[in-house]
Amino acid sequence: MSTKHTHAFQAEVKQILHLVTHSLYSNKEIFLRELVSNASDACDKLRFEALDQNALFEDQPNLEIRLIVDKEARTLTIRDNGIGMSADEAIAHLGTIAKSGTRDFMSALDEAKKGDANLIGQFGVGFYSGFIVADRITVESRRAGLDAAQGVRWTSEGTGEFEVEAIDKAGRGTDVILHLREGEDDFLQPWKLRSTVAKYSDHIGLPILLRKETWDAEKSAYVVTDEWETANKASALWTRSKSDITQEQYDEFYKTLSHDSQAPLTHTHNRVEGRSEYIQLLYIPAKAPFDLWNRDKKPGVKLYVKRVFIMDDAQELMPSYLRFVRGVIDSADLPLNVSRELLQESRDVRAIREGSTKKVLGMLEALANSEDQADKDKYAGFWKEFGAVFKEGMGEDFQNHERIAKLLRFASTHASENVSLADYVGRMKEGQEHIYFITADSLAAAQNSPQLEIFRKKGTEVLLLADRVDEWMVSHFQDFEGKTLQSIAKGAVDLGQLQDEAEKKAAEAAAEAFKPMLEKLKESLKERAKDVRVTTRLVDSPACIVVEEGDMSAHLSRLLKQAGQ
Ligand code: ADP
Ligand code: MG
Repeated sequence: MSTKHTHAFQAEVKQILHLVTHSLYSNKEIFLRELVSNASDACDKLRFEALDQNALFEDQPNLEIRLIVDKEARTLTIRDNGIGMSADEAIAHLGTIAKSGTRDFMSALDEAKKGDANLIGQFGVGFYSGFIVADRITVESRRAGLDAAQGVRWTSEGTGEFEVEAIDKAGRGTDVILHLREGEDDFLQPWKLRSTVAKYSDHIGLPILLRKETWDAEKSAYVVTDEWETANKASALWTRSKSDITQEQYDEFYKTLSHDSQAPLTHTHNRVEGRSEYIQLLYIPAKAPFDLWNRDKKPGVKLYVKRVFIMDDAQELMPSYLRFVRGVIDSADLPLNVSRELLQESRDVRAIREGSTKKVLGMLEALANSEDQADKDKYAGFWKEFGAVFKEGMGEDFQNHERIAKLLRFASTHASENVSLADYVGRMKEGQEHIYFITADSLAAAQNSPQLEIFRKKGTEVLLLADRVDEWMVSHFQDFEGKTLQSIAKGAVDLGQLQDEAEKKAAEAAAEAFKPMLEKLKESLKERAKDVRVTTRLVDSPACIVVEEGDMSAHLSRLLKQAGQ
């Protein structure tokens, strides 16, 4: 007889369980999507491990998922013959949250936000979503390669703890048995399961099998037979042709990939042939995930090789400034046993990254340049969510410098948002040679800077840069369409042709007249200021501080100080 051991859930799991059971009622059938997607992941993992260990297939080479209903016991079982879990794995994977980002997010979430279904959608609710419809979940599993006697049964009521015991399990893989809550009997109905599979899991690349029903005239009801039938298309979505895929199916696939509850802004789906052969299905999300700001966050692109899942978050496939892109790349050229090291050196991978970058820029250009207001709004939404990350591209991707520059959007003294460099150049004054900008900690600080006075007076537009990355971005940015960028907070701003002769004369006369005073100021400020000058850049303010041309701007030196440099 085996003994049962009781374990406590990690504190964050308890939080998730609480969230899941209290706030996800409105969309309860997503539990099936999550559990089917786990079953499919488990089959992907088996296929991958079996590449060099064929014995793992045992006598069951056909990977599949079965949905089994027991009306008497009121249970729904999701069965897969994938990789399975050992007892230790069940304890670790079903009792704790491995993803550090999710853990941070959970502890950062305050009470007020806990009910927000959109926030919940940002992390994988995954396995625990079963508790939306079940008051008890039993998992029976055996890891591929272990003996039948090394199976495990995991049971929990989704409160504080779970129990684990050893069992015999002949078949490899996992059964997730949901003991349905009162009132959830719909999920015992084949029609309900079939329609839920069709809605959320049609794209899964494995067959999802259900018992076939036939009409029994005598009983005048449908009765379940011993035969199985496939409830989904059972071919990976990206391998199908565009014309066979509806917008809704594209959107649903995105949601499973990203755990986002909102539809994406746009996608691109292509079969690329030629030097390197691959399929790409890439999405731009509508909302930024909570950990986007982390430069270590990996791009959310999954790599497959000839339909075999290889890895999540393949960094090598997408430059870092496009790390918000989600999707799948399926290569026909890479070897199945491709490693991270190999990815870094591979010419095929480089070709894929370059091709995918161009496609993403193309998607963004299509929105930004569209005549359609809905597309324009989407681009503005994109910029709000991801603009600050996208700007990193100016320092990162020199090959596409020009295309990236055209996609940049700014606030300026002319409009509070969405000013493109092309707009700016179109509004430049006769004789204006530079694109003027100012950087500051915040938009308000930029707007109120005394340095702007002369530009306001002259009606010359100035870009207001207040993102952390702006300072760095402009250092990688010399000119746009032949117009150089010029900080108005540096040196003796050269207004060039914008200043008329009389103004120049007046400035020179003033410099002469104030000479004795300037000498005094220089003497008393000598520890703190390099120079004191008469300026024409101010209209209302008596004085302002500027840095020498070529020196760090005041804003950058503040940033560096904050960073402890
Ligand atoms: P995620 O799928 O995002 O990792 P889940 O909460 O859905 O998060 O699942 C947690 C973990 O439990 C999985 O990463 C996997 O290790 C394990 N797991 C869940 N379901 C299965 C299954 N059917 N077969 C094997 N392992 C599973
Ligand atoms: Mg999952």
